[in-house]
Amino acid sequence: MDGIATNLTEVRQRIDAACRRAGREPQSVELIAVSKTFPVSDIAEAVKAGQQVFGESRLQEAEPKIDALPASLSWHFIGGVQRNKVRKILQKFGVIHAIDSLRLAGYVNGIAGELGHAAEIFLQVNIGGEASKGGFEPEVLRQEIGKLCALDHLRILGLMCIPPEGPDAESARRWFVSLRELRDEIEAISGRQFSQLSMGMSGDYEVAIEEGATHVRVGTLIFGHRSRRVEGELG
Ligand SMILES: *Cc1c(COP(=O)(O)O)cnc(C)c1O
Repeated sequence: MDGIATNLTEVRQRIDAACRRAGREPQSVELIAVSKTFPVSDIAEAVKAGQQVFGESRLQEAEPKIDALPASLSWHFIGGVQRNKVRKILQKFGVIHAIDSLRLAGYVNGIAGELGHAAEIFLQVNIGGEASKGGFEPEVLRQEIGKLCALDHLRILGLMCIPPEGPDAESARRWFVSLRELRDEIEAISGRQFSQLSMGMSGDYEVAIEEGATHVRVGTLIFGHRSRRVEGELG
């Protein structure tokens, strides 16, 4: 692996190229550098290379890192959300990516109301219908979008997904298309706009951008490989 600055430059160039292919403005894509499992020193290196937006998936790990770094950075919470951590997550993070049920959305709405602000969130969709993954089933989201929109301390930015694993980046395309089409459907159902799509990781972010991603969550290609043990835990 090259240095973090070099990696970032390459990812940014590839984002620009994917945007050009898709006829999109490079500024229409937010690169979230996923720093979970990596130390403050690595994040500081990315900051030096101009990166301001980071993603973490466990509160316990993220909190001391956030506190140690400049307050000007933006933090996105991309992991599973435990109810007892919602207040702290809202205080430390600007955006939550994995709101996966009406019940959790209602709970976050209540805490955001107590804190006196609107929580910026993505609704996670289990786009591949996998038993092992969280997220709204598409049909449930169609049914519940009205109730979700009525939660007035939530600002629903759009939809987020982690597609089923496939042999290559191209195999993720159909899932990204499905998420975009589902977004269009729930806009029509609700009469609201959900302009953002959080989709695409190290293996498939270029395809995701071609299919409309506004937020790509890239870890490995920037910071290197993670040890398996610490992944996928609830935050
Ligand atoms: C870890 C993680 C990522 C980053 O994955 P990479 O393959 O390392 O780019 C993106 N999204 C979520 C939700 C994650 O948990």
